[in-house]
Amino acid sequence: GAANSREQRFEFYRPELNRGASERFKLEGALRRALERSEFELHYQPQVALGSGAIIGVEALLRWRHPERGLLGPGAFIELAEETGLILPIGEWVLRRACEQTRAWQQNGVPVVPVSVNLSARQFAEHIPETVRRILDETGLDPALLELELTESASMDDPKRTFEILRRLKEMGVSLAIDDFGTGYSSLNYLKRFPVDKLKLDQSFVREIVSDPHDLSIARAVIALGHGLRLTVIAEGVESAAQLALLARHGCDEMQGYFFSRPVPASECARLLCDGVALSVDAMRPAPGRR
Ligand code: C2E
Ligand code: MG
Ligand code: MG
Ligand code: MG
Repeated sequence: GAANSREQRFEFYRPELNRGASERFKLEGALRRALERSEFELHYQPQVALGSGAIIGVEALLRWRHPERGLLGPGAFIELAEETGLILPIGEWVLRRACEQTRAWQQNGVPVVPVSVNLSARQFAEHIPETVRRILDETGLDPALLELELTESASMDDPKRTFEILRRLKEMGVSLAIDDFGTGYSSLNYLKRFPVDKLKLDQSFVREIVSDPHDLSIARAVIALGHGLRLTVIAEGVESAAQLALLARHGCDEMQGYFFSRPVPASECARLLCDGVALSVDAMRPAPGRR
């Protein structure tokens, strides 16, 4: 009502909010220029198979090398990028860069693994199959080396449409993962029909899995659900040997987290892939007497 809008106007003119708005405006301008100035880069975080400790994938994670503020993670700008629509050109850059990089590694004899790219809901809505097709053609990357991560909210807005988009992506030969699984609102009925390959158990359930029995129950339920649907289950945010051991004991297939490696720049990632290191494989063997 009128009182309400007056209140809002009052709120709007509070000086600290003004400062907020002008900072946002500045950030938006800087974000707009960042692509032209090549200030974005991708870091890569290994994903590890439980049995062998082998790196079976890498997730591409966006970073902004801001001229004044240094290296920024997506937390500092991704929301604004989504609100302003800048996520579309940025997201396309991410997709192209990840494909180019993986193709370049392959051509240089690096033993490559599939690269996972995060898609925002907004990108998902916008001709994504055509964009992916074009970028695969331009970069020459084998579609089997590309995985796309989408969140539950991106996929559940319009399930019919989503199903169609996922089907077309699968037809191209790329694989699909549901990111942050357990934090959104998946309908199990749709999950049953969506042609996805992998569930990524959200790190909020992993964080206290050792001390919180509820988190453990949820993790076990997600693993059982995934396996029941013949999906691979990967745990995000694994930071300790204890978390790893618990997830391993309950049959989780793959893991990703600081325990194995932080996201690293491309050159370092290439080194990890070349070394073929089995990351922390000893920690994965069940300790004697632990079962
Ligand atoms: P996400 O896709 O769930 O990625 C995992 C996040 O967890 C990454 O944060 C990663 O650095 C962090 N992480 C990995 N292992 C651990 C761990 O052991 N402990 C903890 N505490 N954190 C860990 P990051 O790079 O800051 O990215 C945050 C989110 O931003 C991503 O979450 C993803 O939703 C989004 N994002 C990142 N890159 C892109 C992109 O290229 N496009 C879009 N649309 N979103 C992106
Ligand atoms: Mg992700
Ligand atoms: Mg996630
Ligand atoms: Mg996330």
